[in-house]
Amino acid sequence: MPIRHPRLLPLALAVLLVAGCSTPPRASAPATPPAASAASVPLRPVSAELPKIHVLGTGGTISGAAPDRTALSGYKAGSFTIERMLADVPEVRDIARVTHEQFRNVGSGNIGSADVLALAQRIQKLVTEQPDIAGFVVTHGTGTLEQTAYFLHLAVRTDKPIVVVGAMRPWSAVSTDAHLNLVNAVRVAAHPESRGKGALVVLNDEINCAREATKTDTYRVETFNSREYGFLGYADPDRVVYYRVPERRHTFKSEFVVDDLKELPQVDIVYGYQDASAAPVAALLADGAKGLVSASGSPELTAALKKAAASGVAVVSSDQKGQGRVLTNPERLAEGLVSADNLRPQKARVLLQLALACGKTSPAELQRIFNQY
Ligand code: ASP
Repeated sequence: MPIRHPRLLPLALAVLLVAGCSTPPRASAPATPPAASAASVPLRPVSAELPKIHVLGTGGTISGAAPDRTALSGYKAGSFTIERMLADVPEVRDIARVTHEQFRNVGSGNIGSADVLALAQRIQKLVTEQPDIAGFVVTHGTGTLEQTAYFLHLAVRTDKPIVVVGAMRPWSAVSTDAHLNLVNAVRVAAHPESRGKGALVVLNDEINCAREATKTDTYRVETFNSREYGFLGYADPDRVVYYRVPERRHTFKSEFVVDDLKELPQVDIVYGYQDASAAPVAALLADGAKGLVSASGSPELTAALKKAAASGVAVVSSDQKGQGRVLTNPERLAEGLVSADNLRPQKARVLLQLALACGKTSPAELQRIFNQY
């Protein structure tokens, strides 16, 4: 409240000082999570008018706990349940009718192709069986978040938003980004303009398209961005605001149907550098790889990749620089080397896995797919 009379200023300052010196209230988020049942009581009435948002928890730092609230490393990812996390931010109930399920509760290093496929199938089932759900939120560790998000972007046939959210500081930490990121993820999922934009990666108030989103910093909270393409928009305090729409094929325009798939094929990445050996190619093929993505090359590596392509292995050329296109080249395509366009190697791997799983194997067909998605 503005102080209009100057003679009241000392009094106001005194009041502020006393308040500032009083014992601080006990922190509301304990360092170790209590039993999940303690949090299951609805905290405020929910309006039937609000959109229904379904939250699937998979773990990660966003659900992490440390014994000490100032410990920003050494915490255990996947400690808090999604039920408890949602109860800690009752504000989400002003935004949406939130339902939830604990899909997994692990660090994202433990999320593999089988989990990602099962997650896409689970969301697809919910899309079909619960048409009243307006949008989805997936909580996830940031390490492999962009890979899961891109798979959902390609494989779930819906125009409803699928917001994938993580955090760089554990749920239990002082000044964590986890609470606000989760609230913002629900806001974005519930926002009508998020419809038709596919899977979205939301952290640090920023909304990224799942295709371009990438983690760029091992530790800072402003780690996700979309490189040269920029954010789609922001979850700002006044409103969710968009500036761009994703142009490439995704979700409801995707040709990939994964409902009945039992598994995804093995696709691996080989890293190029001066003197890079061809040995990893032979080892990965012996291990069962059905596809290979190169992150740049070397003469020896490129020769081995061409040999693999000639034997029928799907080979996609990506690059390790992080942005820009690998240009299409008819001669290289004739040798079986498909261009990843501007997909980073870990994203190209996801698209190649999905394409192979759906029976697309020829270099020409794969190139069409990499040109469209
Ligand atoms: N190790 C964590 C994970 O990827 C990192 C994070 O969530 O930020 O699960």
